[in-house]
Parts: sequence; C-alpha cells; structure tokens
Amino acid sequence: MIPYGRQSISEEDIQAVVNVLRSDYLTQGSVVPQFEQAVADYVGANYAVAVNSGTSALHLACLALGLGKGDYLWTSPNTFVASANCALYCGAQVDFVDIDPKTFNMSISALEYKLQQAERAGTLPKIVIPVHFAGLSCDMKKITRLAKQYGFYIIEDACHAIGGKYLDKPVGHCQYSDITVFSFHPVKIITTAEGGMAVTQQQHLAERMALLRSHGITRETKKMTHEPDGPWYYQQIDLGFNYRMTDLQAALGLSQLKKIGEFVRLRHDLKLYYDDLIVGLPVATQYQSLNSFSALHLYPIQIDLTQITLSFTQVFELLRENGIGVNVHYIPVHLQPYYIQLGFKPGDFPVAEDYYTKTLSLPLYSELSFEQQNLVIQVLTEVLQ
Ligand SMILES: *Cc1c(COP(=O)(O)O)cnc(C)c1O
Repeated sequence: MIPYGRQSISEEDIQAVVNVLRSDYLTQGSVVPQFEQAVADYVGANYAVAVNSGTSALHLACLALGLGKGDYLWTSPNTFVASANCALYCGAQVDFVDIDPKTFNMSISALEYKLQQAERAGTLPKIVIPVHFAGLSCDMKKITRLAKQYGFYIIEDACHAIGGKYLDKPVGHCQYSDITVFSFHPVKIITTAEGGMAVTQQQHLAERMALLRSHGITRETKKMTHEPDGPWYYQQIDLGFNYRMTDLQAALGLSQLKKIGEFVRLRHDLKLYYDDLIVGLPVATQYQSLNSFSALHLYPIQIDLTQITLSFTQVFELLRENGIGVNVHYIPVHLQPYYIQLGFKPGDFPVAEDYYTKTLSLPLYSELSFEQQNLVIQVLTEVLQ
C-alpha cells in the first residue's frame, strides 16, 4: 500500500538520535533549547516552546492566552479534532466557522458574518484558531483586521504548514497572530515521531507556556513567592502538565529541520506532476491563493460525483483495494459524536459537510516517486471511468 503520508529518515537523522542516546541527558538536556532556537530562527519568531505534541502546543497556547470557563473559541470544522478539543480542555466553549469551498480553509466572509451575529448576542470569541489546511496559509491579514475590530486573539494551527509562507514570510513569524503551533507527527512536513512547538513574538506568552509545560514549576527566584529555602529549591506556582519534548526527539527534529527546504520543494514537484496527470479527470484541487506558498502537507482532490457512476465510498474502497492508501481529511469535527452531544448537528456547517462527501487525499510525501504517482493516477483513472 502506498500510504497517504510518511516520514523521510536519513542516516544523519539516525546518527543524531544515537548521539543523544550515548549522551548524559535523554531529556531536559541542551538539545531541546537548540531545536527551539533553530525553529524560532527559521520562522522568524522571537520565542519557541517545544512540547510532546501539536495537541499539547494548542492546549498551552490557549492557557497562555487566558482561555477559560465562559469563553468561546472558534475554529474550522475541516480540521483534526485537536484544534477544537484544546478549548474544551480549558473549560471553554467551542464553535466553528464554515469553510471556503475553494481554499478549504476557514471562510473569511463566514467569519465576518458570525462575528457580527456574536457581537449582538454577546458571545464573541476570545480566541480564533485558523487552520492552514493542507499547508496553505489562511488569509491572515484579513483575520487580523477582524481580530482588531472584535477583540479576539489568534492562534494559527500550522500543524500542516511549517515550511510554507504567507506574503513571502515564513508561516510562524506571528506578524498576524499571537501564537503559531506546529506538529511533528511522522505524516507532517518534518518529524520528531511525536512532538510539537508553539512559537510567538511575545515573551510573556512564551514564559507562560514554558512554565505550564513542566508542572507549573519554576526555579527562577524572581517568580517565587519568597526567597528560596536553599539551593535545591523550586516552587510550583501554577497547575501545569508534563508536556516536555525529549532530547531524542529534539535531535531528530533539529536534523530534519536542515532538510525542510528540500522536503517542501519535493512536495511542490510532486504536486505539479499530479496536477498534470489529473487533467481530464472529474476532480478539482485546492485553490492555491496567490499570497500564500503552501507547505503541501496534503493533496486533496474533490470528486465530481455527478460525472461518475460509483459512490464516494466505492471510489475510496477500490483505491484502497488496489494499493492506493488514500485518506479523508477531514470528517467535520462538529459531526463527531462527542460534539453532537454538545449540541452540534448535521447542517450546521454545510460547506464543510458537502466537502466531506466528495474529497479524499492522494498519497503525498517527499519520498514518493513519479512512478508511484503514475500508478496512483492510473488506478484513479480506471476507478473513475
Ligand atoms: C496533526 C494535527 C494536530 C495535532 O498534532 P499532534 O502532534 O498529532 O498532536 C492538530 N491540528 C492539525 C490540523 C493537525 O493536522
């Protein structure tokens, strides 16, 4: 089976991890801060906080921005559940903004309309999380204008988008957001196995996330309530978690980061090749906004079901049976049973729901070969005919 995504691991990556294994510190050593500095430099952010997953980074970002009971957080329904769950972890309420039918990202006009309604109802969000779907940045300038007008914070869920650009600046520079969050799961652009990072230009947010990453414990005298009892002393000044990244993971990340430009370039080559191969098939692809350079985490195709005799499920099954590991990104989050039980229902976000009935992701990862792509499209062509 050709998977829809997978990691690319070199001998240098393996050696970097082995070196940490032979060193004194498997965790809480010097490699995590090195990886943080390297990512901060790469994206042009002042601060970076490495954690054990993208999900943890989202949680810490929400906490750092003070999200809590009585607050609302809005995100896209076309995302992984983690983009919404982070609000529930904080005791806040979640709502969604429907997607744009061409970019598959949060619709700016739907956001604007929903903000007008919420202002009247007194239910404006404290945080909005735009998700850069498939690696394509949302139109952050427009979202920032609305953030100023309506007074909400912005966390960019860039779990698909490290290596991408918006208005010629790297995703993660945070010019148009408070915090940007990355994931380093193996299917993402670079990997640390499990792992994530939050980047920001604001020192107080970085400090708060770093504190909560490790139990809410500080060793900084100036943050303590009184003078240290002795040289052994630390204080727990808040309720945090163990969300730390290990040095093994950071070493892998640091090594992977060196190849990020190459990874994204390869993904673009593969995308262009697919674009040529699908000409004439009854499928549409994600519209690539001119102001953004996608990291191309995914290659979603939208099937025109009116042009074929098979159902979407049959197309999916036939592709899988023939060794093409397609996948669906995403089941609209509000239709998950847990969210239905919170009060959401079919019909709430019709564009995302319609998208879900006909869109699947073709295999896309840096080690995919043109021969494999030929096979993918050959099978797809046969299935669609
Ligand atoms: C992968 C992903 C996450 C979660 O990242 P983990 O590292 O798996 O916890 C969150 N949001 C989006 C959009 C993702 O794709």
